[in-house]
Amino acid sequence: MTFPGTIVVGSHVWAEDPEVAWIDGEVVEVNDEEIKINCESGKTVIASTSNVFPKDSEAPPCGVDDMTKLAYLHEPGVLQNLRSRYDMNEIYTYTGSILIAVNPFQRLPHLYDNHMMEQYKGAGFGELSPHPFAIADAAYRQMINEGISQSILVSGESGAGKTESTKMLMRYLAYMGGRAAAEGRSVEQKVLESNPVLEAFGNAKTVRNNNSSRFGKFVEIQFDQRGRISGAAIRTYLLERSRVCQVSDPERNYHCFYMLCAAPPEDVERYKLGNPRMFHYLNQTNCYELDAVDDSKEYIATRRAMDVVGISTDEQDAIFRAVAAILHLGNIEFVKGNETDSSEPKDEKSRFHLRTASELFMCDEKSLEDSLCKRVIVTRDETITKCLDPDSAAVSRDALAKIVYSRLFDWLVNKINNSIGQDPDSRYLIGVLDIYGFESFKTNSFEQFCINLTNEKLQQHFNQHVFKMEQEEYTKEEIDWSYIEFIDNQDILDLIEKKPGGIIALLDEACMFPRSTHETFAQKLYQTFKDHKRFSKPKLSRTDFTICHYAGDVTYQTELFLDKNKDYVVAEHQALLRASRCSFVSGLFPLLPEESSKTSKFSSIGSRFKQQLQALLETLSATEPHYIRCVKPNNLLKPAIFENYNVLQQLKCGGVMEAIRISCAGYPTRKTFDEFVSRFGILAPDVLEGRCDEVTASKRLLEKVGLEGHQIGKTKVFLRAGQMAELDARRSEVL
Ligand code: ADP
Ligand code: MG
Repeated sequence: MTFPGTIVVGSHVWAEDPEVAWIDGEVVEVNDEEIKINCESGKTVIASTSNVFPKDSEAPPCGVDDMTKLAYLHEPGVLQNLRSRYDMNEIYTYTGSILIAVNPFQRLPHLYDNHMMEQYKGAGFGELSPHPFAIADAAYRQMINEGISQSILVSGESGAGKTESTKMLMRYLAYMGGRAAAEGRSVEQKVLESNPVLEAFGNAKTVRNNNSSRFGKFVEIQFDQRGRISGAAIRTYLLERSRVCQVSDPERNYHCFYMLCAAPPEDVERYKLGNPRMFHYLNQTNCYELDAVDDSKEYIATRRAMDVVGISTDEQDAIFRAVAAILHLGNIEFVKGNETDSSEPKDEKSRFHLRTASELFMCDEKSLEDSLCKRVIVTRDETITKCLDPDSAAVSRDALAKIVYSRLFDWLVNKINNSIGQDPDSRYLIGVLDIYGFESFKTNSFEQFCINLTNEKLQQHFNQHVFKMEQEEYTKEEIDWSYIEFIDNQDILDLIEKKPGGIIALLDEACMFPRSTHETFAQKLYQTFKDHKRFSKPKLSRTDFTICHYAGDVTYQTELFLDKNKDYVVAEHQALLRASRCSFVSGLFPLLPEESSKTSKFSSIGSRFKQQLQALLETLSATEPHYIRCVKPNNLLKPAIFENYNVLQQLKCGGVMEAIRISCAGYPTRKTFDEFVSRFGILAPDVLEGRCDEVTASKRLLEKVGLEGHQIGKTKVFLRAGQMAELDARRSEVL
């Protein structure tokens, strides 16, 4: 978007720059297609007219708290605004009603204390500085005043600050909707204390975040007639299972493993633990400790939080026994057995861990060994026992560890939900969504595929909402908006989830055919989608595929898609743990009717996830949404470093640029009549003479300067993209 005629010698502009994304300076020469710019840094830049944006020389140096207040709503302006605010520790900025939060990577306690909550309580939206409390307050008040359920959607890439923001929202809602201490633990206390429990079992240190949530979460807080919290429900999505058995430097496994190894001596002894360096599931990486985190204190804190959410001491003991058993399981190594292609525990050490794991699981040692090293195959006439070779036995062992861990996590979520209790008579709810943002790595597998599907769906929801909000603003101001369009991403969603024929459906089909491989699956995709605009086959690969997502192209590696999509429990594992003498462990493996009839039905992670998403979006559609977009200013996780390119990319992925684009398709610049007249009165001083009100003055002014396509609202002048620049250019001629 350029504004012909608005850039002249002396104009202040932004030009694209390979290093810092956008660089500002003064135009010293204008040729046909090229502009020469002297930058403030001393650099001279030659830019093409189509890559230059006007800079608002009157923008306040400390930025504006709402992007829509910017005279020029464009990429460099948005970036500059965020940056100058970040430099002053103003980490929050609105874009209309969307809150952008830039991770400070340092504690700013004064921002979140109780005094702050008091301030935001009852303050009008936009009256105080942008803040998650303001979003929570707006949601709460809208719920009370209009009787509509609300949702707050927090997104951003890993480490951007989603979970921290979510916790603040929940604290504020608990503050607004809490009741004076009734008997026992209050609902809101349990909701808040569910965080440390779920974090202990579902968070881990990753490259991107020292406390990265490895699952998605939707917390639904229910309110009664009087706006008091009366119940809550937590839904979780796609816990990362592979981490239990496979960690790479400098990441860690789930926090709970290290906490348990650092437990008081009597517990460590009871679970036969010790130094985490002893355990295969933990020592594949060199990272054991976290900066500023004491795992032994965390263990105590987690236990205490478990008390609060209603997990009994016996249950806690069983949980940690299972966690310890997983560690011992991981230490069982296999070697070739006596029969061909069979396997057995490698040595005395492996036997010790096998025995210990069976003791902790409270199951039979021999049965555990058999379930790891053998498979029973039932045919029509006979039952054959087949031995597994050492590699297959190790795979079997890891599968057992993963299934126990994931069932344990689901159990925790369930238990917390039962203990908090749902209110069947609740009037309305506020849902808070903390879910992984768009991901695009060097290699992208099934997990990224599911995560990016989530983001496509949320993006569609977001676009529709932003578009609706724009329309509402125009309707309120009684101006015409009939010709504003926006691009939908329905075609990507169809590509992925259409039934039949979408990628997930084809994947399920592949998983059901015994002879399918990732190669045949990829071929099928290439055939089916060869003319699809959003799908392509990378030139140099035979099994990868690329989807053109709203936030950019992502190439997926199909190698593990089939395996990761299959959701089944090895029958031997099921039978083993079902027979555990510990009711907690056997309870994790309930007998399902279909399993008892021995027909193992295929179940697909992809399809189940798709259904979960569908349900989530249905819930969200019944609510009034609010958005928080978290931004990670650098990958070093350090304060005071703001990387332009990095931030821009995230603004794109979070739909912030899209929201701005939608807004630019309409009337991106809104000035109250006051502001308009005082800025541009100078262009036609005569219209201000005599006594006329600001509305009339604005109208006359616009007529006089001959601007077309703008609109006069009830309280504001609405300008189309570029018109502000045009007016400013004329103004600088006059000045
Ligand atoms: P995400 O959930 O998006 O992956 P987190 O919410 O876990 O990211 O944040 C990552 C880290 O960044 C936190 O552990 C904390 O150190 C820091 N952080 C995030 N938000 C804030 C904040 N508002 N104030 C201070 N530190 C923050
Ligand atoms: Mg998180």
